[in-house]
Amino acid sequence: MTSDTTVLVTEVFSAIQGEGALVGERQVFLRLTGCNIRCAYCDQPEALEKRPGPCRLEQTPGRRDWRWRESPLRLTEVAGAVDRLWRAVPHHSVSVTGGEPLLQARRLVALLPLLAERGHSVYLETNGTLPAGLASVLEWVDHIGMDIKLDSVDHEEVDLDTHRRFLQAGAARHLFVKVVIGPATVPDELDRAVAMVHEVAPETEIFLQPVTPFAEVTAAPSPSQVLELQERALRLHPRVRVVPQTHKLIGQL
Ligand code: SF4
Repeated sequence: MTSDTTVLVTEVFSAIQGEGALVGERQVFLRLTGCNIRCAYCDQPEALEKRPGPCRLEQTPGRRDWRWRESPLRLTEVAGAVDRLWRAVPHHSVSVTGGEPLLQARRLVALLPLLAERGHSVYLETNGTLPAGLASVLEWVDHIGMDIKLDSVDHEEVDLDTHRRFLQAGAARHLFVKVVIGPATVPDELDRAVAMVHEVAPETEIFLQPVTPFAEVTAAPSPSQVLELQERALRLHPRVRVVPQTHKLIGQL
């Protein structure tokens, strides 16, 4: 198998979207392997290293009846695994997630048309740091959920200008922005991010997502802190909602 005909996959399964603008929608999740950053609260540690390894494919939507395979997988096998779940239960879209899916943008250029051929709309869930990768796959993407990373929460020092270029590249699609907030969120840093979104794409919805304690992160922001951060953001941009990770509240993957 050549790298042009395969993709590094961690898992494929059917579940309920728990974040952002598509919360509550049924999706086929296609989780690709590898991420270019390491957020302090990341809940996908098994998907971070971009390397071959075991991956799991759900056989029946929502049953977690996994079939284990060795990744990388052929593009046609991945499209078939997605298609099988989609045909068994109506789905809203395929959530192409990770890790950071745009780390494998060249392979997505070959994979996404296979999903389009089968009539599956694509939602790209991305950390918003690879604008060139986004530009290369944009024509096959219907919805985009992009993160803006705050150093005070993620400790990854992602340059706001990188997020700006990503937003400029993706603003022509249905795009929303997600910002994880935590007890250590620096209000001025959030203000700068919100002001940037308002300047570049004023119609964009911003979702503030209170961090779910995991790994190094042991506490969520207080209720009063969440209210205050939303108030600050609303003074800069009229479309700011607060949505926690609802899939975790209902015990979903
Ligand atoms: S961008 Fe996402 S997958 Fe990558 S480390 Fe951060 S939370 Fe984890």
